[in-house]
Amino acid sequence: MSKRQGSSAIVIGAGMAGLMTARVLSDHVEQVRILERDRLPEDAIPRSGVPQGRHAHVLLAAGQWVLDGWFPGLADELRAEGAVPLDAGGLVWRQGGASWTASDLGSCALSMSRPLLETTVRRRLLRQRPNVVITDETAVDSLVLENGRVAGVQVDGAQHRTGLVVACSGRHTRFLDLLAERGFPAPDVSAVGIEMACGTRVVPRLPDDVARAVAVEVDDPAQSHRMGMMVPAEGNRWIITLGSFHDDAPPIEPAAYEDFARCLPSPLIADVLARTEALTPVLTYRMSTSRRRHVERLDRTPGGFLVLGDAICSLNPLHAQGMSSAALQAQALSRAIARHGLTSPHLARAFYRQAATVVDAPWRLAAAVDPCTSGPESAGTGLINRY
Ligand SMILES: Cc1cc2nc3c(=O)[nH]c(=O)nc-3n(C[C@H](O)[C@H](O)[C@H](O)COP(=O)(O)OP(=O)(O)OC[C@H]3O[C@@H](n4cnc5c(N)ncnc54)[C@H](O)[C@@H]3O)c2cc1C
Repeated sequence: MSKRQGSSAIVIGAGMAGLMTARVLSDHVEQVRILERDRLPEDAIPRSGVPQGRHAHVLLAAGQWVLDGWFPGLADELRAEGAVPLDAGGLVWRQGGASWTASDLGSCALSMSRPLLETTVRRRLLRQRPNVVITDETAVDSLVLENGRVAGVQVDGAQHRTGLVVACSGRHTRFLDLLAERGFPAPDVSAVGIEMACGTRVVPRLPDDVARAVAVEVDDPAQSHRMGMMVPAEGNRWIITLGSFHDDAPPIEPAAYEDFARCLPSPLIADVLARTEALTPVLTYRMSTSRRRHVERLDRTPGGFLVLGDAICSLNPLHAQGMSSAALQAQALSRAIARHGLTSPHLARAFYRQAATVVDAPWRLAAAVDPCTSGPESAGTGLINRY
């Protein structure tokens, strides 16, 4: 792909969606600049702009394949940093009573903390793509609108002009609202009530701990919605996330937290909690809805501006789809730019249509899992649940 002389793009947010978007944009433009409001730590530690990063994260195969294609050798680098390879039978899934499966996640499946994945991808991006720069501690306040186009961003009163702005600023992004205040239509929003609450503890992982690497345990959905996930992470640690829906939050008091784990279909997670001192208190997170902004239905959008990642769709985390969805959306963006060009008035419509196709399947799954969800049933829910 030949890059247009003098062309540039700005990505708002250096989360997983922002890093992956910058990676694809670096194929199409001379200079990509990521602006991130957090100070980005050198070490793989959680940061305030990505509060979900303290909780168990699993990268599904689709996301892993896309990342491996963009960053050859990334898996080796992650392994060298302590990511844990998952053997055949690495995923244990138990759901209510006796039903469980042990799935082979494939030879490249790795388990790690979300901060390790993000920091390693960030380092790799900067090393591998010299036309990408990241400026941290820089919060974008607003967009520069000129003649119906976004011509740049505004930071502390200063304008930063560019050919394309992509907002990867997460679930609570404000930029579509800012555009609505300036006369552009706001996207329709679909929300499915989940009232999810989770609590996470990090505990040491001992050599004789359970052989299988990832455990997902879901209580009998007919009785309750409690779930637990235990993923191995760098530094010989387990990240244990217990969760539930509709205000049945895991307690933060350690003994009660362990009792909550005892409600799961097997004692696997509770036993690990019982036999060791945790390294952290119970860290909590709440999400009221799975939420989708239907940007694909917008009949008028400003040129030079897109949103991507959780800003389009943020899902019930039980399904672990967010990072992989962002990777597939970034791929779709690359295809749309290759076809229409960076400054084309058709780019937004073309990209949003493709992004909607990416988001449709995980959205249907997340919206269909009855009875975790509340609100009107979407089309096909009964069929998916029977399946
Ligand atoms: C509890 C929980 C568990 C999850 N588990 C999984 C899992 O197992 N697997 C999976 O694939 N996904 C999981 N997800 C979803 C996943 O975390 C997200 O989908 C994924 O991180 C993509 O997010 P993003 O980059 O779009 O947004 P975010 O991660 O929210 O990043 C947004 C970035 O933008 C920055 N920012 C915001 N506003 C501005 C501004 N004005 N100026 C500059 N910077 C700004 C923020 O500081 C942040 O760095 C989980 C989510 C939750 C809540």
